[in-house]
Amino acid sequence: MKIGFIGLGAMGRHMARHLQEAGHDMTIHDIRREAATPFLEAGADWADTPKGVALASEVILTSLPGPVDVEGVVLGPDGIADGVTSGQVYLDLSTNSPVVTRRLHKEMADRGIEMLDVPVSGGTVGAEAGTLSMLVGGNEALFNRMLPLLQQFGDKPFYCGPSGAGQVCKLVNNYISLSIQPLLAEAFTIGVKAGVDPATIFEAVSRSTGNTPSMQRRYPTGLFKGNFAPGFTVNLGRKDLGLAIDMAKDFDVPVQYGPLSWKEYDETSKRDRGLLDTGAVALIQEERAGVEIRADMDSK
Ligand code: NAD
Repeated sequence: MKIGFIGLGAMGRHMARHLQEAGHDMTIHDIRREAATPFLEAGADWADTPKGVALASEVILTSLPGPVDVEGVVLGPDGIADGVTSGQVYLDLSTNSPVVTRRLHKEMADRGIEMLDVPVSGGTVGAEAGTLSMLVGGNEALFNRMLPLLQQFGDKPFYCGPSGAGQVCKLVNNYISLSIQPLLAEAFTIGVKAGVDPATIFEAVSRSTGNTPSMQRRYPTGLFKGNFAPGFTVNLGRKDLGLAIDMAKDFDVPVQYGPLSWKEYDETSKRDRGLLDTGAVALIQEERAGVEIRADMDSK
């Protein structure tokens, strides 16, 4: 199949690699030309613009930071919309606003293009391993048609409902997984200052009701080692929490915990830590509490 892929970043480069390894003819684009090098060496074609990608592809995929980037790439000058012809399919893998998603869906439908929102979950580790969860919104028959393709770079595609439903579910998921991180940091600083070492607290909580994937994923190899290599950046976390809070406003839902967490991501970003992994939100709490949560789980 002729596949177009735009956005070869922390997530996109793995997903695009799986598709290239599955034998598709790839046309790729990214504002960072250097991101294309390994794909070009493996036989992909480069397009100078999203329009160029659309002209060369049957299915076009984007994995971009957020709504502004996706709208620009689809509807902006030399965008995807300028290059499509009826019958093509567009899949947005970015975590995006449901409102923008539904607008793009309509813009594409007006041009005879079917679209699915396919935000993914599982981080760069899941992307690399091809084990991503995919939360899909759009026409169910199209979802079923696209399943074999989706399964080439993620093993858990899940149909959520009509256009935008994938993004709604993704933002609900991230509202939980991101909001819990400042709370985790708070809990650990309490425990450490109360006299128990972080590795012991980790083992105790892992066996108990406070256990959470956010702790399992980010503490032993991340915070405990002072390692904040992304992963999923603080800036993207702030974006996702912001999108979820906007969604709450749009649907008149009063919220308090998400906005408190958003402030932690915002403050972390303002302290020049925006490009670190989201685990770095714990640093602010460490500074406030005057204690570091460091441990060597390898020696346990
Ligand atoms: P990233 O910033 O590493 O990658 C984005 C890529 O898009 C970069 O290569 C960038 O150069 C490119 N890009 C940006 N604007 C562009 C434009 N106008 N035209 C062409 N290319 C452009 O981000 P990421 O971590 O790969 O995340 C991508 C999406 O996946 C985001 O929506 C994010 O929220 C979501 N996501 C990320 C993770 C994660 O763990 N990193 C997990 C799940 C979902």
